[in-house]
Amino acid sequence: MSKYLKTPDNVLSSDLLMQSLHDYLLDELLPAIRQFSLSPSEFIIRDNGREILQKILDNSNHQLRIYGSAQELAENLKIWRDFPFAHEFFKTETDLFELNEVTQLKSQLAAGNFADYASKFPVFEGNSRSKAEESELCRLLKQNHAILGETDGAGIMTQVMNNSILIKCLSTIIENNPKMFSEKGVTAVRVFEDGSQRFVMKAELFHAISNGNKLKDDEYRFTTISMEEVERIYGHRVKNIEFLRTPIIRARHRAVFVKAHLQGDFCTLATDVLFDLLRSLIIEYKVFQKYNPIDWIGLSKLFDLNIKMAFNVDCKTPYFLRHGSWHLVTCIYANLFDCIEHIPAKDIRNAKIDGFTVQNLKNELIHLGLTMAFPEIVNHAEAVYSAVDGQKRGKYLNTSDLFDAVFHSQIICIFNRYPKFKTFIHNQSGCERVLGYTCEMCQKMSDDQKSLEQKQLESLENKTLSLKEFETMKRKILELEDENRKLKDQNSRFSSQVKELKLEKLSINSENPSTNFSVVSTKTSISECLICDSELDTTGETKKCPMCRTRFHSKCAIEYIKHEIKCPSCKGTLRNSMITSKFS
Ligand SMILES: [Zn+2]
Ligand SMILES: [Zn+2]
Ligand SMILES: [Zn+2]
Ligand SMILES: [Zn+2]
Ligand SMILES: [Zn+2]
Repeated sequence: MSKYLKTPDNVLSSDLLMQSLHDYLLDELLPAIRQFSLSPSEFIIRDNGREILQKILDNSNHQLRIYGSAQELAENLKIWRDFPFAHEFFKTETDLFELNEVTQLKSQLAAGNFADYASKFPVFEGNSRSKAEESELCRLLKQNHAILGETDGAGIMTQVMNNSILIKCLSTIIENNPKMFSEKGVTAVRVFEDGSQRFVMKAELFHAISNGNKLKDDEYRFTTISMEEVERIYGHRVKNIEFLRTPIIRARHRAVFVKAHLQGDFCTLATDVLFDLLRSLIIEYKVFQKYNPIDWIGLSKLFDLNIKMAFNVDCKTPYFLRHGSWHLVTCIYANLFDCIEHIPAKDIRNAKIDGFTVQNLKNELIHLGLTMAFPEIVNHAEAVYSAVDGQKRGKYLNTSDLFDAVFHSQIICIFNRYPKFKTFIHNQSGCERVLGYTCEMCQKMSDDQKSLEQKQLESLENKTLSLKEFETMKRKILELEDENRKLKDQNSRFSSQVKELKLEKLSINSENPSTNFSVVSTKTSISECLICDSELDTTGETKKCPMCRTRFHSKCAIEYIKHEIKCPSCKGTLRNSMITSKFS
């Protein structure tokens, strides 16, 4: 709906900026922003908060380097914050009434400056306000202000006016889009698009098909069904459903929420939850830098718990995890985090201004002490490096990219030690999101695909006989085309003849009505001139009787009408024509 409500999309309230920043950052990094406070004048923030984020970064003691520049953080925060129904999530529905400008209006109203207030009242598209309406608005404001009294008349009226602005906005939208709001209108179901995958939430589809009945879905998992399956299984039953394209959008460092089919509930794709978990373990708690030697059996048990609760290894369609499940996924690590909290660990160093090399990455992995947990980790550096390099946003790789490279190198090592995550990610079609990772299952699939294509090619070769048939058909088509061309030629010859005839007729019909004999170049009727009894040749000029249209030699006709009145053929009078004829 946001496309109908035209508001500048880079303006937000400071509350929303700080709340979304608080939720976007890794919990361990929150102390870096805790001491930061905004001055009251910074209530409305423009440019997606880039300036304020710059101040925050400057004051964060380099703790927030993972998020890149203020510009990058502002952009990612915007992506993360601006999902459909985000206002329900952040509970910002009332923000509109608390904006700075409203306070200004209030003070103007309190000071009796009604004209200014009235001029602020929005004008809707195509309905400009006349002077008379403007002064009527002023009068009403004055009157109502007096009735409401001095105490908080201004406050109440400001609220009322803003409500009425909203209502007018909404009713305009509803009037212009009756289909969207009428009860008989089509039901909408979101089609989520993620890469080449297209899927819908089962519960949402079921709700649309069965007129409001609810599907009993898992409490924490919202399953989906692919669009191909929807078309195959439900076919005609979904004809009246409008499918709304809903791309899955991702911020760089935290999964973006999606509104669930239930009122006020939100969820994220399960794969995104796994990435958030891994980011928490790797970047936030530095588990694999601190926890040495790692008790892989113990850790696998914790992973198994996650698999059981959240990451269904067998599920081959994407599915969502409810917002609340994040706590279930992470709380099992509480003891582990407690145990390693006091172990010191090195921070990722800054990349140079002109980026970093594969060797820099290898050195960094060693510097961070990761070869203790993952002796082979530097072997992945090259593949990870080229994948990160391929995705870099700026001209050079930056510190934020180095964080990514270190993050993904560790994911590959974890996957190799705990293959259930591999299967999960593969079945959810998320393998490409692990930078530098080569999935054996994906490779096998592409090998199978290749051999299938090879087979298809071979079977094509077997069809060379039908290729001959094709040749014969082609020849036949050519013959037909040739014939067609001949017919066309003939046709055009005929039509040019018809045109000539028409021209002739035209020149006959367009004879000056007073000129009864006219010049005609005749090729058609070969007969005798009734005046001289000799043949009318095909090229000579003739004149004809306007009544019987009998032709005579021009010379004969001119001579004839000097002393005769009647046509030799029809005996009609030629006298008038004798007088007016330009030949006479
Ligand atoms: Zn929080
Ligand atoms: Zn818990
Ligand atoms: Zn795969
Ligand atoms: Zn003649
Ligand atoms: Zn005649």
